[in-house]
Amino acid sequence: MVKIKGKLYICPSPIGNLEDFTFRAVRVLKEADLIAAEDTRHTRKLLAHYEIRTPVTSFHQHSSPKQTEKLVSAMLAGKNIALISDAGTPAISDPGQVLIKACIDQGIEVDPLPGPCAAVTALSASGFPLASFTFKGFLPRKGLDNAVAALAAVQHPVVLYESPRRIVALLGAFGKHMPDREIMLARELTKVHQQLLRGRAEDLLAQVEAENLERGEYTVVLGPGQERFTPAERDVLTLAQQFLGEGMSVRDAADKISGETGVPRREIYQLLIKKKDT
Ligand code: SAM
Repeated sequence: MVKIKGKLYICPSPIGNLEDFTFRAVRVLKEADLIAAEDTRHTRKLLAHYEIRTPVTSFHQHSSPKQTEKLVSAMLAGKNIALISDAGTPAISDPGQVLIKACIDQGIEVDPLPGPCAAVTALSASGFPLASFTFKGFLPRKGLDNAVAALAAVQHPVVLYESPRRIVALLGAFGKHMPDREIMLARELTKVHQQLLRGRAEDLLAQVEAENLERGEYTVVLGPGQERFTPAERDVLTLAQQFLGEGMSVRDAADKISGETGVPRREIYQLLIKKKDT
């Protein structure tokens, strides 16, 4: 007789508003044999609210490989397990990936439920073109400046998570590397005091400091870049800046750059006019 394996359900949970649990997530949690929760105490409170009485075990980023094995064995023996994190979608800057991969390796079905996710919720309200975007999760604590400098090269929107204690430092780095980029700060999404703040880094920094907003939960969406010059054009402009700075006339500078780069003089003039307009 073929033994029927259980399943792993991935259950998103509310990110601040209890009404955002889906009917299906509540049913799946009620019907599962076991709930694997990032923080059992936190999840028990949520489960009590929905009268879900399924047994709960813990599964978090420091769980031992033994705990993964235990859960996998239970599913191989036919038990259905629902994975839940403290808020939002498991495995998105939250624990889950190790268990999900173990299920895939063992041929256990992984059944993802759609539901709350702070990144997607923030993106949806950004008003930025979203044909493509980058999700960065939390930027590294060390080397924030370098991480932000690298983001300046990304031309489509970028969504990231940040702690309120570091929001000022993050905005400072954005101001340094992307002073003109439109940004949306999604603060306390879905909660009573939800705020969607839009503007450039300098203005947002002033607002966060003036209104004492260094608390609450933040998801940050960087708008698209508006790179006006290609890397080759930038090289030409750097040379122009150097020669003009040395006192050369525009005509002589254009001649010299054309000789050095092979770019026609006419194009160099056009580029200088475009630069003057920025
Ligand atoms: N897995 C979760 C999800 O799907 O949204 C994300 C978990 S991550 C550990 C937690 C971070 O998500 C917070 O530090 C914050 O940056 C962001 N976040 C969670 N809830 C939020 C909310 N209500 N408003 C804004 N950002 C939120």
